[in-house]
Amino acid sequence: MATTLTARCVFLGAPGAGKGTQAKKVAEAAALAHISTGDMLRGQVSAGTELGRQAKGYMDAGKLVPDDLIISMVKARISEPDAKSAWILDGFPRTLPQAEALDRNLSANSALSHVIYFAVPESVLFGRLTGRLTCSKCGAIWHLQNNPPKAAGVCDLCGGGLVQRSDDLPEKITKRLEEYRTLTAPLLAYYREKNLLREIDANRAPTVVFQELLKLMQ
Ligand SMILES: [Zn+2]
Repeated sequence: MATTLTARCVFLGAPGAGKGTQAKKVAEAAALAHISTGDMLRGQVSAGTELGRQAKGYMDAGKLVPDDLIISMVKARISEPDAKSAWILDGFPRTLPQAEALDRNLSANSALSHVIYFAVPESVLFGRLTGRLTCSKCGAIWHLQNNPPKAAGVCDLCGGGLVQRSDDLPEKITKRLEEYRTLTAPLLAYYREKNLLREIDANRAPTVVFQELLKLMQ
């Protein structure tokens, strides 16, 4: 499919809603830059940049990386040639102050065009997250029940070893979902008021969700 989209969007949804996986697919299919703040932060940390060192200090102390640090990282990424006027923000903003700061930092011609909300019932999210396996080499995500690798514990794509991220342990999942309800859910009202919010029923097969996303983002 040779689609090109010029959307500048945020993918919103609880952990396990599938937004990261879909963002990657849509970005590839429609020539958008996929801006995952989590991946970018991990990249900066492992590259040992100044920003990475600062971020690591907060992460090691179990604190959230401050908004202005993430915003400056996102701004730099958006101004790169491949991201001009076509990108998906995945993992940011997560709080109302972050959303407001993002708006202040986007110029008129780079303002958000869409916010896509991935709606999935919480019981489904829990099941998705507890079975999740992450490739330690390429970052691909598998699932014990929904999307198992051909050989147990081995990534089909690169042969890397699969691990359960500490974030995906049951007690951490409960905490992440709670945090999402408190911090991120208020964003829905914020973006709805701006007339940017589009909701997608993400409790369906990934291929169905993908096709609908391409339509929603026109
Ligand atoms: Zn892999």
